[in-house]
Amino acid sequence: MSGIGINPGSKAGLEAVARMLASLCEICEYASEHGSWPTDHRGTHCKGCHRSWTGLAQSHCTVCHRHFGSDAAGDAHWPGKGSECQDPEGYRRYETRSGVIFGGIDPKQMEAMRQSPRKPPSHSAETPRTETP
Ligand SMILES: [Zn+2]
Ligand SMILES: [Zn+2]
Ligand SMILES: [Zn+2]
Repeated sequence: MSGIGINPGSKAGLEAVARMLASLCEICEYASEHGSWPTDHRGTHCKGCHRSWTGLAQSHCTVCHRHFGSDAAGDAHWPGKGSECQDPEGYRRYETRSGVIFGGIDPKQMEAMRQSPRKPPSHSAETPRTETP
């Protein structure tokens, strides 16, 4: 019964791991190793700003890393070659937990839709259980 377990004294090793995690996002790490996103990762990921998103209608600028709720908003933010990225004019700006989104559907509305119960509430929670021993 010896040689099993982690040496708690290897502080240097822990620090190296922490540094690695901070500099490299695990999704990018997986992608560089396997050539594809992790199997449990749904959607798209930006290797520049490490933002993930799942909406197919959403678009992302890999230059300025602004994020858009629609392709149209993405097109509007960049007037054309030789121009600089800018906030898309005439599109709404949404502050979300994962950052700012321009255009598209209101993320709060999306969240409400997502959180709406998929199945009707069961009655079992209201009916007291009558169990006979
Ligand atoms: Zn990443
Ligand atoms: Zn841009
Ligand atoms: Zn980005």
